[in-house]
Amino acid sequence: MDCLFCKIINREIPSDIVYEDEDVLAFNDINPQAPTHVLLIPKRHVATLNDLKEDDLALVGRMTFSAAKLANEYGFAEDGYRVVMNCNEKGGQSVYHIHMHLMGGRRFTWPAG
Ligand code: IMP
Repeated sequence: MDCLFCKIINREIPSDIVYEDEDVLAFNDINPQAPTHVLLIPKRHVATLNDLKEDDLALVGRMTFSAAKLANEYGFAEDGYRVVMNCNEKGGQSVYHIHMHLMGGRRFTWPAG
């Protein structure tokens, strides 16, 4: 499958991995939008949020829990941080393997652009 993030999971493309477990991989975003900008992805290919099945609830929970744990380790959990998942073209998704952006280390505004 020609998926950039699957290639990162399979170590065919280098990445700066910051967390890994059986189901989830997290690595630094190549074009960071905050002092810390990590992407958390499932190891199983899921193209968009719309492709999630009820069986994936635990997987998404693990991604969210891992993001919160990383925020704590980076030291910005108390100050606050942002977690974003973009879906499809109008939602700003550019890589079609679901991913959670974890951004911290600066103040964020709302609404997002
Ligand atoms: P999206 O726009 O929500 O789909 O986010 C895709 C993200 O992947 C963007 O923030 C990109 O900077 C990031 N990205 C693209 N290619 C790479 C890569 O090879 N390594 C790490 N991050 C990447």
